[in-house]
Amino acid sequence: MRKKTLLSFALVVGVLALATPLVVAYRLAQQDGHDEANAYLESLALDVLRRSDATRAQIDMAVLLLRSGPPLLPCSEEQLARMRVVVARSSYLVGFGYLDGTRLMCSTMATFEAPVELGPPHRINPPHIWSWGGVALPGVPGALFNINAHDEYAAIIAPQLVIDILDQNSTLSLSQVGGHPPRMLRTRGVFKREWLAHYDGKPAEFTDAEHFVVVRPSHNGQNEVFAAMTRDQVEGLIRSAAWRRMPIGLLVGVLLAALVFLIARNRLSFKTELQAALKRHEFFLLYQPVIDLRHGRCTGAEALIRWHRSDGVVVPPMVFIPAAEKSGMIQKITASVLQMVARDAAQLLRDNPQTHIAINFSAEDLHSPQTESRLQALVRECGAASHNIIIEATESGLMSPEKARGILARIRQQGFRVAIDDFGTGNSSLSYLATYDLDFLKIDKSFVDDLGNDPSSTQMAFHIIQIARSLGLQMIAEGVETERQRDILRDAGVQFAQGYVFGKPMPMADLAEFIRQRNGPAVDKP
Ligand code: C2E
Ligand code: CA
Ligand code: CA
Repeated sequence: MRKKTLLSFALVVGVLALATPLVVAYRLAQQDGHDEANAYLESLALDVLRRSDATRAQIDMAVLLLRSGPPLLPCSEEQLARMRVVVARSSYLVGFGYLDGTRLMCSTMATFEAPVELGPPHRINPPHIWSWGGVALPGVPGALFNINAHDEYAAIIAPQLVIDILDQNSTLSLSQVGGHPPRMLRTRGVFKREWLAHYDGKPAEFTDAEHFVVVRPSHNGQNEVFAAMTRDQVEGLIRSAAWRRMPIGLLVGVLLAALVFLIARNRLSFKTELQAALKRHEFFLLYQPVIDLRHGRCTGAEALIRWHRSDGVVVPPMVFIPAAEKSGMIQKITASVLQMVARDAAQLLRDNPQTHIAINFSAEDLHSPQTESRLQALVRECGAASHNIIIEATESGLMSPEKARGILARIRQQGFRVAIDDFGTGNSSLSYLATYDLDFLKIDKSFVDDLGNDPSSTQMAFHIIQIARSLGLQMIAEGVETERQRDILRDAGVQFAQGYVFGKPMPMADLAEFIRQRNGPAVDKP
């Protein structure tokens, strides 16, 4: 359950770790796309404003030049020639003309048969500058001009010269609007009347259903340029920004997800769980009484470990001991078992100095030089003697005699006793078991189970009893569940037994009570 929760949590975090950088990268790409659109449209708008300022400056300069020098007869060849000179000097003017009120009397563009009536000026700004937009001139078919008049001089401007800063195929829109009420000065592409809501002398950016628009006013606030691109074009910029951003987002996402995976794997690993369990003191011991079959007294108990996880689940040792052995945690667990025995059994061993506590050792424990000192610490701490402790070693623990023999020999020399556990369940050959100095042989439950029922296993049990005798070992039968099994074993000469028929593994307090009841009151030591 806890694992499942952690797993689903890790999955959610992993997906988030992968997705978040991608989302962030896309958001940044959106921002990039917008910024790019904004910057480009702004540069266009400013360019138009710059050109329109330049146009105005050129007109001012041209008018100044025309007024300098001796006055010439209006529309005379001399005056037109002078006008042609100033037109040639200015890049944004296409022509000049002479005005009489609102009538254009002549121009450098074409000769008129009659004056051209321009009508009321579209703009007067400042008072002496009159402007007309979209003027068709006779002799120049198909073109419309803007005319700016300084008193009698009319500068003729091709509006597209200012606004045609984009190539012919560009689908961007550019419009310059001026005056109050606003009038279109020049335009290319799309311009929507609604956009004039933003004609207020302030820079603006806005988006409508189809367009993204950037508005920039001129320095003097007399006109504004609207530069627009379609939303599809903005999307295109976002897409190309995404191509740049997303691979990095993906890379970061994959790295983060991998990190989450590694952390989760570490968290979920049994080793980490066992470490945490040790730290949280989730292990405890139960003690199963061992009975002397000859007189029925309890001679001691086997310490059996239990793991009470914080989520309430009790994990059986058959599940976590093999995992602890595989993950290199078993020595830490054994060290903790020894400490728990020292704490649990001190009182019992003081009250019953003849009883023993049997402790299960794994192969690693039998190969570790620390085992000896840990056992010494155990008897010291609980004020017991080394003969109070029996080490239970499995066949697999004895598989590497070169590693185990020295330690076992030293332990036995100090008075600790050693039992071979689960005898007959492994593949160990008798020949090398015979080379160890041992004290007890534990007859595995599997041989005890069918005692008296199945003749072949009964035979096996007797065979094992024979081997124990020949090795000079005392016997402890395991898993005795019935009185019949108990009687057969006793009659066959087995000295000790443990099993549910006597008592299940129990807490130390219960064991002390069990021993009191079974053996009579403890003899008080002097
Ligand atoms: P084991 O050393 O052979 O322990 C005997 C197992 O048989 C215990 O299971 C015990 O509860 C069970 N048992 C005893 N009498 C009966 C009975 O009459 N009927 C039945 N059905 N079962 C009985 P447990 O406690 O689950 O331990 C299983 C194994 O876990 C142990 O087998 C031992 O190999 C290992 N183990 C337990 N505690 C430790 C420990 O502290 N350290 C190490 N290294 N291994 C341990
Ligand atoms: Ca055992
Ligand atoms: Ca056993």
